[in-house]
Amino acid sequence: MYNDKTLVCKDCGQKFTFTASEQEFYAEKGFTNEPQRCKACRMAKKDSSRSGSGSRQMYDAVCAECGKRCKVPFEPRSDRPVYCSDCFKSNR
Ligand SMILES: [Zn+2]
Ligand SMILES: [Zn+2]
Repeated sequence: MYNDKTLVCKDCGQKFTFTASEQEFYAEKGFTNEPQRCKACRMAKKDSSRSGSGSRQMYDAVCAECGKRCKVPFEPRSDRPVYCSDCFKSNR
């Protein structure tokens, strides 16, 4: 009852196939919208959202102001004081 459908990806403009089985899956889940992006873009989006929040490297540091341990997004260097977020804010 479903036929393969050709859709155009919103992100890269490439045509991709919304297959009959995918349509069935969507209907089963109650999704009313057709997919907006091809598989590659959907995967890329997932990947970028994951690496955007999760894999950012943080370094252990000790705040030069209050001596509290904190994490900073850059490698702390001995010639530059590191501040925790609280002290950093109040220093501004
Ligand atoms: Zn795409
Ligand atoms: Zn501090």
